[in-house]
Amino acid sequence: MSSTPALAFPPFGPDHEALRRTVRDWVYKELHPHRKTWDDAGEWPARELIQQLAQMGCLGIRYPEKDGGQGLDWWFHTAFVEELAHARNGGVVMSILVHTDISTPVLSEIGTPEQKEEFLIPAMRGELIGALGVTEPDCGSDVAAIQTTARIDGGDYIIDGAKTYITNGAFADFIVLAVRTGAAGHAGISLVLFPTNTPGFSVGKKLDKLGTRAVDSSMLHFDGCRIPRRNLLGVENGGFIHIMQNFQGERLVGALMATGCMEVSLQDALEYGRTRKAFNRPIGSFQVWRHKFAEHLTSLQAAKLVNYAAVARMQTGEDPTLQVSMAKLFAGDLAQKVLYDCLQFHGGAGFIEEYDIARACRDMRLMPIGGGTSEIMKEIIGKWSGL
Ligand SMILES: Cc1cc2nc3c(=O)[nH]c(=O)nc-3n(C[C@H](O)[C@H](O)[C@H](O)COP(=O)(O)OP(=O)(O)OC[C@H]3O[C@@H](n4cnc5c(N)ncnc54)[C@H](O)[C@@H]3O)c2cc1C
Repeated sequence: MSSTPALAFPPFGPDHEALRRTVRDWVYKELHPHRKTWDDAGEWPARELIQQLAQMGCLGIRYPEKDGGQGLDWWFHTAFVEELAHARNGGVVMSILVHTDISTPVLSEIGTPEQKEEFLIPAMRGELIGALGVTEPDCGSDVAAIQTTARIDGGDYIIDGAKTYITNGAFADFIVLAVRTGAAGHAGISLVLFPTNTPGFSVGKKLDKLGTRAVDSSMLHFDGCRIPRRNLLGVENGGFIHIMQNFQGERLVGALMATGCMEVSLQDALEYGRTRKAFNRPIGSFQVWRHKFAEHLTSLQAAKLVNYAAVARMQTGEDPTLQVSMAKLFAGDLAQKVLYDCLQFHGGAGFIEEYDIARACRDMRLMPIGGGTSEIMKEIIGKWSGL
């Protein structure tokens, strides 16, 4: 009988494995022991630990060396993101990824040398922390409807409006901010680099969230905030396309994060099922659970391959929108089923905070919502399919 041909990807080799080991060791030393206390406290020492990641060379793995990055590629970055799941705290992971994949990529791609000097290079050193401000109280999915304005006044923009649910927003040093500089609709939107020490900027009351509780996702207010026009990213009124392009990396790391969380939660559940007994036998030996886990482990592999198809597109530079939308949709929705069963398998223990599965369920409920909902992913996939 002929053997099954090896998959052509993912191209992970010894160097990726070495990075995985370094990241995983750090996660188990620095993040994992605090996964519950940081959730209870509603904060984590982001500044200190993001600086440690900078020293490990993990903040700009896929950015050019001249921008303070490591000059590696999306496969190394994928290995990094997957290992973060071992923290078993989705809020902390999201906070890190907002810095590495949600706020800084657009700066690396279209920032001027001066903007990179002022914001990106210090961000790669862990000296500045970034956030992305798109969503507003009156619009999220419909990005083209944003109302926060940036009005020209001499050499400055004057910014007025509000943003909401902005992760890292309470402590970020700068926000990649979507503002209206022109007419209504997508053709009147720009991106600016907003330093949070600007007078007139304030953080609203803490939002009480279902999950990702270790990091703030804040309401932000802009009241006559004056920033220099040199902080415009890209061209004026050309911001919408950059927001959409930036979403691809955000959605892909969301899919990787959800898949990583499923993987560690399945491992934890299988471990629990080997020792917990009912009717004098390990609960994992009941056929109903063996079959459920067989299905979930198979789906996990499928999620990884959908993710890797999207990573491959990011790597080649071809338009990744279809593959990324599929990856986010698939992993985000699958996580709900897999984590539900992992919690159910723990019985009453699953409902108790002592186990990690309760937090995983809460944190991953965000995945079909944040960065573009599952319904929006279906709209995008539908359009690409000519529907
Ligand atoms: C914890 C958390 C962290 C976040 N972090 C950030 C951040 O750092 N930066 C940032 O800018 N934003 C952030 N967000 C915002 C997030 O991206 C939005 O919540 C998301 O895009 C959905 O927007 P919305 O909440 O306004 O929902 P809405 O747009 O009001 O949608 C409500 C419902 O209507 C559905 N819907 C909308 N349009 C359609 C359509 N065309 N077809 C079918 N159904 C539709 C949606 O799918 C959803 O089910 C965060 C959100 C949360 C909860």
